[in-house]
Amino acid sequence: MKIAFIGLGNMGAPMAANLAKAGHEVTGFDVAGAAAEGVGTAVSAPEAATGAEVVITMLPNGQILRSVAAEVIPAMPPGAVLLDCSTVDVDSARAVAAQAAEAGLGALDAPVSGGVGGASGGTLTFMVGGSEEAFAKAKPLFDIMGQKAVHCGPSGNGQAAKICNNMILGVTMIATCEAFALADKLGLSREAMFDVVSTSSGYSWSMNAYCPAPGVGPQSPADNGYKPGFAAELMLKDLGLSQQAAETADADTPMGERALELYRAFVEDEGGTGRDFSAMLPRFEGRGRG
Ligand code: NAD
Repeated sequence: MKIAFIGLGNMGAPMAANLAKAGHEVTGFDVAGAAAEGVGTAVSAPEAATGAEVVITMLPNGQILRSVAAEVIPAMPPGAVLLDCSTVDVDSARAVAAQAAEAGLGALDAPVSGGVGGASGGTLTFMVGGSEEAFAKAKPLFDIMGQKAVHCGPSGNGQAAKICNNMILGVTMIATCEAFALADKLGLSREAMFDVVSTSSGYSWSMNAYCPAPGVGPQSPADNGYKPGFAAELMLKDLGLSQQAAETADADTPMGERALELYRAFVEDEGGTGRDFSAMLPRFEGRGRG
């Protein structure tokens, strides 16, 4: 397949390289001049998109996605698919899909989970919004870049699934970290806390698979000085998107809102930038109620 790949950053470069390695003809473009192994480079996004059957974008935010989409849509041949894998707001995903449809193109929003390791290893999970037809066309590409692609419904539903999942993740990580910090103060060992909770009703992915306490449970960023993993600033971004969506949809999300406030303080005022999102545990550990 002839593929254009716009945005060759931490995630985009290894994803594009995996497509090229699998035998697809991939042409990339990145404003920063980034490149990817086995991927040809174009001088602009429209040049990369010209004649491409699928144009993939992996960009920082919805505003940039909207401007790139406005540039590439006129260059894409009829019937081609615009496949956005970035994490962006639901409104931008739906606006770009409508614009693509008007031009006779397919569109999919397909944000990922799995991080840079998943992008390199081709083990990402895609949460996908858009038509069945566009999904079927992109499926072989999802199979190369990832291990699972879930079709969640019409345009915007991939982003909706991603931000709802990550709102749960942010809230449960905070709950897990504050409970560990309370357990410390009550004289309970972390090992005992893990042994009980991981097999009791307080269990969660945050506790069982990604335990924020070093030396306890399976290997996690806590065992590596809280080097990400999933950086606190990326969690802050996703919690911001979930609150933006909640406002638009008039949904009451008090825990998501509180998680956003805590991650914002952590990242902006408490040195959390560049640390894994589970470093909320040392944050709580050092604090009292005041
Ligand atoms: P990144 O900043 O490393 O990459 C984004 C790239 O887009 C950069 O190389 C930048 O130069 C390029 N870019 C910006 N504007 C452009 C334009 N107008 N035209 C062409 N290229 C442009 O970010 P990343 O970590 O690769 O993340 C990409 C997306 O994936 C984000 O939406 C992020 O939220 C999401 N995501 C990231 C992770 C992760 O662990 N890094 C995990 C899941 C989802």
